[in-house]
Amino acid sequence: MPSEIPRMKREMSRYSVFAVAREAFRDHQGWTRAWGSPEPKRKYDVIIIGAGGHGLATAYYLGKNHGIRNVAVLEKGWLGGGNTGRNTTIIRSNYLQDPSAAIYEKARSLYEDLSQDLNYNVMFSPRGVMMLAQTEHEIRGYKRTAHANALQGVATEFISPARVKQLCPIMEIRGPRYPVLGALWQPRGGTARHDAVAWGYARKCSEMGMDIIQKCEVTGVRSQGGKVVGVTTSRGDIDCDKLGVVVAGHSGHVADMAGFRLPIESVALQALVSEPIKPCMDVVVMANTVHGYMSQSDKGEMVIGGGTDGYNNYTQRGSFHHIEETVRALVETFPMISRLKMLRQWGGIVDVTGDRSPILSKTPLENCFINCGWGTGGFKAIPGSGWGMAELMATGYSPLTEAFGLDRFSEGRFIDESVAAGVAH
Ligand SMILES: Cc1cc2nc3c(=O)[nH]c(=O)nc-3n(C[C@H](O)[C@H](O)[C@H](O)COP(=O)(O)OP(=O)(O)OC[C@H]3O[C@@H](n4cnc5c(N)ncnc54)[C@H](O)[C@@H]3O)c2cc1C
Repeated sequence: MPSEIPRMKREMSRYSVFAVAREAFRDHQGWTRAWGSPEPKRKYDVIIIGAGGHGLATAYYLGKNHGIRNVAVLEKGWLGGGNTGRNTTIIRSNYLQDPSAAIYEKARSLYEDLSQDLNYNVMFSPRGVMMLAQTEHEIRGYKRTAHANALQGVATEFISPARVKQLCPIMEIRGPRYPVLGALWQPRGGTARHDAVAWGYARKCSEMGMDIIQKCEVTGVRSQGGKVVGVTTSRGDIDCDKLGVVVAGHSGHVADMAGFRLPIESVALQALVSEPIKPCMDVVVMANTVHGYMSQSDKGEMVIGGGTDGYNNYTQRGSFHHIEETVRALVETFPMISRLKMLRQWGGIVDVTGDRSPILSKTPLENCFINCGWGTGGFKAIPGSGWGMAELMATGYSPLTEAFGLDRFSEGRFIDESVAAGVAH
């Protein structure tokens, strides 16, 4: 790919305990800006639309793994202000199908040393994730997943109710409606700080000389002879050789600008947190039958999520009946939370495909690529998705993304993860 001269690499302070000590002695005057705020250039080798985790990770691995640095990431709002900054941060890779296990496990393993790689503390906490089995059907399903994971090299196991109680003493395993019959346990699953993931990637992209341009909405995709040539934005036209569309809940809308349709629906998914309390739970618990999940943040808040709204919308709010259903499910599972006050609630617009698997693909418009369809569970995939998407955009092929092409919908090669990803996160 021809490389127009990228911007000069930006000098960044290196974050370390020594840097903190040094700055403490000079009133913290020596820190550099974490990322630049440049005016758009006329042309880039690659434009990525969407400065969420997936867009920023794609840009980062384009630079790091493929030496492509004349890149702009265009964001209509602020970076990380979409689903990346709104999710409940669960990271796991215990999926059933081989292509899913491959990309989610690649992501999970990159999370292990992402803080060192980015020189930014993303607070990855591999505290363990358990998915409760509360029906005979779930026992069979999760045992099957544990066997599949063993073959895929993903470390999970099916554990007994007694072990569930030992790992999470605040749980009521006898349950009034659905007693806990066991769980699928991934000890190296966990959480990370969502904003930090976006900020860490943004900082590294900026350091490599890439432009992250916020408040720059893409309003049109320009093409000539079936090939993409650039975009129209709220800050003028910008040309590019390759375009990556990474806009989650707005994918259908942007695809429409590029002249193709996606098999995708946009729905609101919401989350809520309680007032902060003392540490009482050091694992992530997902209860899919009663339908709720919970973990405790470093600040002490109980972070709670439920299901998607049953109708398409773009509201970024979520409906009241879901709050009630989710809280009811969790009070049943963790009776102690009935005394907690809820602090705040918010929503995001997730992009859901029919087989509940993502799309990382070339498109009918040449040199235009799409990364979407992560639905309710794409935070965990950010590093792996960025890695694969960058490889696909740079070389035209990635083993990580091969199975996730758009053509699977016309060829009937679905990657059915509706049990692993339909409502869970
Ligand atoms: C409440 C909630 C809980 C969740 N919980 C989890 C969880 O526990 N674990 C998990 O793995 N996943 C979870 N998810 C899903 C996860 O958040 C998403 O899959 C993931 O963040 C998607 O990242 P992204 O970078 O693709 O999208 P986003 O972070 O949404 O980024 C897309 C960006 O594109 C921008 N954009 C859109 N249109 C345009 C345009 N025309 N021009 C310029 N910019 C544009 C948007 O402003 C946005 O910033 C949850 C989601 C929600 C909403």
